[in-house]
Amino acid sequence: MAYAAGVKGDGGLIMKKIPYGYHSIRSEDIEAVRDVLGSDFITQGPKVAEFEKALCDYTGAKYAVAVSSGTAALHIAALASGIVRGDELITSPITFAASANCALYCQARPVFADIEEDTGNIDAGGIEGLITAKTKVIVPVHFSGQMCDMEKIYEMASRRGIVVIEDAAHALGAAYKKSKAGACKYSDMTILSFHPVKHITTGEGGAVLTNSKNFYEKLLMLRNHGITKDEGKLINKEKEPFCGAWYYEMQFLGFNYRITDFQCSLGISQLGKIDSFVNKRRAIADTYDRELGKIEGIDIPARRPYSDSSWHLYFIRVKNPGIRKKLFEHLHSSGIGAQVHYLPVYLHPYYSAMGFKKGLCPKAEDFYGREISIPMYPALKGSEIRRVVKVVSDFFKKKI
Ligand SMILES: *Cc1c(COP(=O)(O)O)cnc(C)c1O
Repeated sequence: MAYAAGVKGDGGLIMKKIPYGYHSIRSEDIEAVRDVLGSDFITQGPKVAEFEKALCDYTGAKYAVAVSSGTAALHIAALASGIVRGDELITSPITFAASANCALYCQARPVFADIEEDTGNIDAGGIEGLITAKTKVIVPVHFSGQMCDMEKIYEMASRRGIVVIEDAAHALGAAYKKSKAGACKYSDMTILSFHPVKHITTGEGGAVLTNSKNFYEKLLMLRNHGITKDEGKLINKEKEPFCGAWYYEMQFLGFNYRITDFQCSLGISQLGKIDSFVNKRRAIADTYDRELGKIEGIDIPARRPYSDSSWHLYFIRVKNPGIRKKLFEHLHSSGIGAQVHYLPVYLHPYYSAMGFKKGLCPKAEDFYGREISIPMYPALKGSEIRRVVKVVSDFFKKKI
């Protein structure tokens, strides 16, 4: 994350700008990386499997495949689902573009379902009307760390043979009806991202979690060029010149989406601290709810009884969209690195050029016009939280 330069605060003091998100890397994390860098395996060594096992132990999933990014995880999960040219993938417009781009990577068509205005999550009730004979995949995105209504979505999808891939890039540590994000109790696969702004980091990195052996075996091969060495799976087995310990074969088109051992060592160290990271985020969210909930001009995020959020983001929505930009600029000039999540994916020029038009998802567009994400990360100090609250409150008290 970029740390912006200091700004002049009260009395001309230079204050460090508070970013909206920031990774937590401590000496033990650095040690963990250093240890691997001095070992025999920089990549494709034991740390990848160790990290995958730690992810399974934490989430409750049976299998994990660690890859080079959350985007790579989405790509191979989509490919493993069997989606092909002309098929459709339903997702939310309030997400990072990668959630929809995975359809385009497979020459499939993204279809956008509108959201719930108070959570920013895909509205499960709106999905059914968008399902066609071509719908192969649904990608619910747990926006900000609050879980989508997965039981409803999975029931609707599995009845029709549609594959559900949860985008849990925001939701490591969250739970749906007491079942951890990544457990895949109400989905076929779940993807995670370990970008530095997310709950834990490996620099760049991601993972696909699943309980299906079939998906797991496909994902392993997709990560590594579609290659297998597994004797039982070889197509050309027992035919000279193919048999022998040297032999491996490529059976379909895969990629190099491998992650390194030193990244996974960082991931293991980070994952060991996930509960404390998430607890800190929850405490910050409670403070924001209590303090910002008093302000007339904004709405705070709704909480659903089925979801225990891991608070990747804390977002406010201004009641009057006409002042959003002014508040955003006021935050920045006061040393607070706010951000807006997200421009509805289909309004990006690339998507517009494909024929997507404004007005497609009115609630998502309205949400985008009101949303501001304010600082939320485990190392945020009490004094910084108070500063954020004061700057937002003063704006509405017209003290600015
Ligand atoms: C970060 C993110 C991704 C992509 O993850 P990368 O690791 O950056 O490739 C996908 N979906 C969502 C919702 C994200 O926030």
